Amino acid sequence: MTIQTDQEAGLSRLMARRPRLDPGHVWLAGAGPGDVGHLTLDAVSAMGQAEVVLHDALVGTEIFSLIRPGAELIHAGKRCGKPSSEQAGISAELVAQARAGRRVLRLKGGDPFVFGRGGEEILALAEAGIPFRVIPGLTAGVAGLAAALIPATMRGINQAIIFATGHGAESQHATLNWEAMAALGQPIVLYMGSKRISTIARRLMAGGMDAAMPAALILGATTARQEVTVTDLAHIAETAAGAEEEAPALIVIGRIVAMRQRISDLVAAVVPELC
Ligand code: SAH
Repeated sequence: MTIQTDQEAGLSRLMARRPRLDPGHVWLAGAGPGDVGHLTLDAVSAMGQAEVVLHDALVGTEIFSLIRPGAELIHAGKRCGKPSSEQAGISAELVAQARAGRRVLRLKGGDPFVFGRGGEEILALAEAGIPFRVIPGLTAGVAGLAAALIPATMRGINQAIIFATGHGAESQHATLNWEAMAALGQPIVLYMGSKRISTIARRLMAGGMDAAMPAALILGATTARQEVTVTDLAHIAETAAGAEEEAPALIVIGRIVAMRQRISDLVAAVVPELC
């Protein structure tokens, strides 16, 4: 047997041992940031078993090819924060589909519990007495940084990392204390931040963060259209303006961002045609 067929047999064995998605059950699964390579075996298995799939505006369209032919696809959820009425509708749909005895998959970008309203959805399922399972996914804030060659943590640079949402930063409900976050001196990874970045950047500077602090915009992380732009805190707002209309965007602010340049300088020295 060749190594490849050994591996294929091993993979089939592993897939056959994945948990079974039973009728009347809901699985809430993360699909990762976009690239099919970042799916978990459980997410792939769920896509092969589900009779109905309620999905977000997922970044990687290739992922859909893994859904069992004949499964019903329901688009549920916008890319950016949705009003709670819409969220209640999604939860109600999950409950109704499960009560109809179907095998239900709720598929979300990244990890379902990271800025994904997965908590509200399992609460609704639990309240309705619907059996469910949660399948973690690679969150954009982790996978997107790796894909952009920005280490999330680096000895001597940071001891913590902050995942924050920029959504609602200008509304009166915004409770995040950006000035205090600036004072921590730890990198900040902003989800849904491109619309509010000018306010956020201003507040970080008001909190004492250096205007020259490296900052990066990562668009469509892990997908074929991934684009990384490195700038600084003073200029990140103009770099990110309108970004999210094209592809989902992450903003990273902190000294870890400078690592990308250091790495690409070294890579260019070794393999110049890579640059
Ligand atoms: N649950 C998801 C996040 C949903 S909020 C997760 O764990 O990744 C949506 C935000 O996630 C987007 O506004 C963007 O900031 C970020 N995001 C998701 N996928 C992304 C990608 N491929 N590239 C860059 N940012 C991404």
